[in-house]
Parts: sequence; structure tokens; C-alpha cells
Amino acid sequence: MEKINELRLTVDARSINEGFCRVAAAAFIAELDPTIEELCDVKTAVSEAVTNCVVHAYREKPGKIYINAVIYGNGTVKIRVKDAGCGIEDVEKAKEPLFTTMGDERSGLGFSVMESFSDKLTVRSKPGSGTTVTIEKRILGMNYGRR
Ligand code: ATP
Ligand code: MG
Repeated sequence: MEKINELRLTVDARSINEGFCRVAAAAFIAELDPTIEELCDVKTAVSEAVTNCVVHAYREKPGKIYINAVIYGNGTVKIRVKDAGCGIEDVEKAKEPLFTTMGDERSGLGFSVMESFSDKLTVRSKPGSGTTVTIEKRILGMNYGRR
């Protein structure tokens, strides 16, 4: 599949950057003329992935979040959110709705939200070396059919 555009962004794993990353992702996909709903879906999914890097991967300690977004010729966007944090012991379990390692502080719905707001979600993780979450979504947009 032909790459139309690519973004690479490295930010510190601080919660202040959640807002920045979601807006950056939204601005990046603007060339596809997304609907408001598509835009909100992407922003929400990116926000959940980035939040997980801040609160789980690095546990509020210093670290980096590496974002790579690619737009493909058919209007598909792939957004990879990567950290070099603690990693996930059991990815399948972590993806289950309501599963959290943060007790009452968190609801355990982040992965479910990412899954429902994207077309495809891939999670790769290795304890001790980090986690990579890839959010894939086809943006049909307001001009769908006229492209
Ligand atoms: P919520 O997202 O609803 O606030 P949550 O973050 O606990 O709660 P999920 O986002 O679904 O729920 O994540 C489930 C669990 O997977 C987390 O509790 C955490 O243990 C683990 N996890 C998720 N992302 C990462 C990550 N980047 N690094 C390490 N562990 C992670
Ligand atoms: Mg979460």
C-alpha cells in the first residue's frame, strides 16, 4: 500500500502531552477530510494509548513516547504508539474489558475503547522492554465516493 504521508513524534511521557498527542493525530489526518465522528474516534484511541504509556509503562516516572502515524493511499491511517517501559505480562488478559492492574483508580476499559474506536488494534509487548500499540482506521470522510 502506497504511503501518502508520515509523522514521527517523540514526547516525554507526561500527562500534559496526552492532549498534545491527540490534537497532533487529529491535525495529521485532516488531509483525509474526516467526519467529526472519525476525528473523535482517532483522538480518543490515541489518548487512551498515550495515557497508558504515562500511567502504566513508566508509572509517572520519566520516559519517552514514540508516535509514528502513516496515511495510506486508500485512506487508511495507522498510528503506532510505542514506549520503552515495563511491558505487559499477559496481553490477552490486559485487553479484557474491566481488567486493570490499578485497582479502584482505573476502570480497565482503555483497550476496549481503542478496539471499538478503530478498525484494528494490535498490541505487542515484552515485559521489561516495552509496549507497542497500533491503531488502524480507514477514514472514509465527508467526500467519500468523490475521491
Ligand atoms: P483505563 O484505561 O480504563 O483508565 P486501564 O488503563 O487499567 O484503565 P487498559 O487501558 O485497558 O485499562 O489497560 C489494561 C491494563 O494493561 C492496565 O491496567 C495495565 O496493567 C496494562 N497496560 C496497558 N498499557 C500498558 C503499557 N503501555 N505498559 C504497561 N502496561 C500497560
Ligand atoms: Mg488505560
